[in-house]
Amino acid sequence: MYIDSHIHLQDYKTHNVKNVVTNAIKNKVMHFINPSAHPSDWNTVAALAVQYPEITPAFGVHPWYITETSSNQFHQLEEMLKLYPNAWVGECGIDKLKNPNPETQTEILKKHIELANKYHRPLIIHAVKADSEMSSLFPILPQLTIFHSFAGSAEWGKAIQKHGFYLGINFSILRKKNAAEILQTLNLRQILLETDGPYQNIERDIETLPENLPQLAQKIADFIHIPYAELATIIEKNQREFLGEK
Ligand SMILES: [Zn+2]
Repeated sequence: MYIDSHIHLQDYKTHNVKNVVTNAIKNKVMHFINPSAHPSDWNTVAALAVQYPEITPAFGVHPWYITETSSNQFHQLEEMLKLYPNAWVGECGIDKLKNPNPETQTEILKKHIELANKYHRPLIIHAVKADSEMSSLFPILPQLTIFHSFAGSAEWGKAIQKHGFYLGINFSILRKKNAAEILQTLNLRQILLETDGPYQNIERDIETLPENLPQLAQKIADFIHIPYAELATIIEKNQREFLGEK
């Protein structure tokens, strides 16, 4: 069985959540980590998690949506984490492609890190062109940290994994010319699969669905020349660490 470790079920426009979840389960994708992007969707994400036991919510402020008021929102974020004891923290991070000024982003990210450590929750990081800022934060990141939608260099991936953190892999890495080389270098024990649905579409303008996650696993297995079943077993083991199952 798989978990989709990063999906925004609140953002589907052309599918309803019930169908998305039901069809995914039919394809052995049994659990969903559903990050929010901004306080305005925290309640929607929380409601989905109440409605579907298969959904684990995550609460955070995505670096694209940081505003001057963001630092005031952390009291509210802490309340959400207390209210939802299984919730993760995220997504949060630093994106220097969208916003070349990393100072405020770093400050806001540090508040997420503090809360994740305080409440012992996994942390979901969105990092783009922020390798040096992120590596200076390595010492304070919780061990269960995922660098989601990883599409960086093999060296960067290895550096993240060397510190014990995880990489969230979705279809976007397959578009890279050196995808095979990158995937072959990574430690499979520290990766999780995700769709980032409805985003990261394989085909233009088509919403990505979690029912396609086994196809992603198959493509990765082909790239690194290991049997599909072997990869699936490793991924299941990785997932259990995050869900706190033995
Ligand atoms: Zn996301």
